[in-house]
Amino acid sequence: RSNAEKFEFQAEVSRLMDIIINSLYSNKDIFLRELISNASDALDKIRFLSLTDKDILGEGDNAKLDIQIKLDKEKKILSIRDRGIGMTKEDLVKNLGTIAKSGTSAFVEKMQTSGDLNLIGQFGVGFYSVYLVADYVEVISKNNDDKQYVWESKADGAFAISEDTWNEPLGRGTEIRLHLKEEAGEYLEEFKLKELVKRYSEFINFPIYIWASKEVDVEVPADEDESSDEDDSTESSSKEESEDEDADKDEDEEKKPKTKTVKETTYEWELLNDVKAIWLRSPKEVTEEEYTKFYHSLAKDFSNEKPLSWSHFTAEGDVEFKAVLYVPPKAPHDLYESYYSSNKSNLKLYVRRVFISDEFDELLPKYLSFLKGLVDSDSLPLNVSREMLQQHSSLKTIKKKLIRKALDMIRRLADEDPDESTDKEKKEEMSSDIDEKKGQYTKFWNEFGKSIKLGIIEDATNRNRLAKLLRFESSKSEGKLTSLDQYISRMKAGQKDIFYITGTSKEQLENSPFLERLKKKNFEVIYFTDPVDEYLMQYLMDYEDKKFQNVSKEGLKLGKDTKDKELKESFKDLTKWWKNSLSKDNVDDVKISDRLDNTPCVVVTSKFGWSANMERIMQSQTL
Ligand code: ADP
Ligand code: MG
Repeated sequence: RSNAEKFEFQAEVSRLMDIIINSLYSNKDIFLRELISNASDALDKIRFLSLTDKDILGEGDNAKLDIQIKLDKEKKILSIRDRGIGMTKEDLVKNLGTIAKSGTSAFVEKMQTSGDLNLIGQFGVGFYSVYLVADYVEVISKNNDDKQYVWESKADGAFAISEDTWNEPLGRGTEIRLHLKEEAGEYLEEFKLKELVKRYSEFINFPIYIWASKEVDVEVPADEDESSDEDDSTESSSKEESEDEDADKDEDEEKKPKTKTVKETTYEWELLNDVKAIWLRSPKEVTEEEYTKFYHSLAKDFSNEKPLSWSHFTAEGDVEFKAVLYVPPKAPHDLYESYYSSNKSNLKLYVRRVFISDEFDELLPKYLSFLKGLVDSDSLPLNVSREMLQQHSSLKTIKKKLIRKALDMIRRLADEDPDESTDKEKKEEMSSDIDEKKGQYTKFWNEFGKSIKLGIIEDATNRNRLAKLLRFESSKSEGKLTSLDQYISRMKAGQKDIFYITGTSKEQLENSPFLERLKKKNFEVIYFTDPVDEYLMQYLMDYEDKKFQNVSKEGLKLGKDTKDKELKESFKDLTKWWKNSLSKDNVDDVKISDRLDNTPCVVVTSKFGWSANMERIMQSQTL
């Protein structure tokens, strides 16, 4: 085309497209849900803008916020069109090729190792999945602020953009035309597309239509000298008539023109989804399968794993809202990578059924950003800017309630897990009852335990609730995870403090001289081996009125010993000499202690100083 402007794909995008177009990956179906999800996002955006500017939607068909799928069997074209926000020329250049999303290289890397394209949507590059089924793609788009343009590419490293002077005007929105590969013929079958929409896009909040063929019977004038076919049909239809009328038959035939019934193919828009929002239904009416499927579509997680847990509730009172929260089965690839720099919450915010944003970090604290879900509130204003909404006082109440519900949900995951119970009878009863809950909390802990620890550090209000969710190994946990409540239940009579030690691994800690005496006296010691644990313990001072005592620090008390004073006296000269010969720069003090058994002496950290492990962490900057 004469007016086409050529562009090269950004290098990572180009690599990604190469991988996709040459992929032998078997589940090519995923492209459709990615396109529908993009169409739905675009519709959400225009609807959001229309809240503050009514004219933006336009009139007639333009105002219809829907998604349309059409097939052209002859030309082998599948097209998906929406009346969403559309893309300006600049948007087309940026969004579809020249600016790589942050997840692009991570995804390319992942593809080369595991090869599971199914996760493409989570990396923000879902669009390119079109090249699983098409070797040539056109994107026709019209945004209110620009003319209509065509983006096109054969995935050969370049794309072209032209002002559209030949297609029908779209009004507003985007049409994606896939010129299907030879082997992708199945996507020209209506039933296949219907099935895919039902399977993957059930929870899209806009109507999805397909231009569906329909066989209909039509009456057409019959020619006098037609074949015997239609004679049969007229005869059969008149058989029901009474014999009396037979006499008039000849007369009738002369008066009325003869007609016949033929099959004809017509087309009409067929609606494929039911747009009733799942969160508006009563939790009693929603099945487990529906919650699971809704999770998959919400999280763009099509790994087919079930979420670990969910909570669907209505909050009443001053601030009203409905919410569905999920604990995903797996942590996303970048959960802790950009923890302090990004403001990513994974909750979608709706106001009165209208999608507002999925970047509202005012809804959940950072440490809960691993949760997925949505909030729909009637208490927030609809026609204000996002910035205004962010300031709204109701958000504080919503956040508070969401945190509470989220922590309850996680707690429930533990309560329902038979592996978590120490009561043998109860354990057996639970195991036979709900086998699929077995081991779920350990799974949760392995994926998201660090988030709970970060929560203890960040959220003073809920510190105790979060501490209840903490799991760790200890000198008595026999390789399993245990909790603070369980630790307390095992505490010896007269034991006042909760003992813990920090280090790099359980093996290292098990052999630590600091533990000799405690072990001999049968005290349980918690092993903290994650770098974040050192920070954690600076915030977690006590639990259920019991203080935490680092056994490698000063102040360890293992109960009364009457010989203490005597010993101190008799070794006074030695300790004095020792302290002096080590000089003040090296140690603060030299003391007699009862913490050791075999080892003759050990260096202890002062109460408020850094533990040896913390020194190590600070030196290696592991966090
Ligand atoms: P993501 O949807 O995660 O952002 P995609 O690769 O699916 O990633 O899409 C890339 C971008 O292209 C989108 O963010 C959006 O800006 C734009 N886009 C894709 N499809 C459409 C569409 N139908 N209407 C408007 N913009 C679209
Ligand atoms: Mg997308």
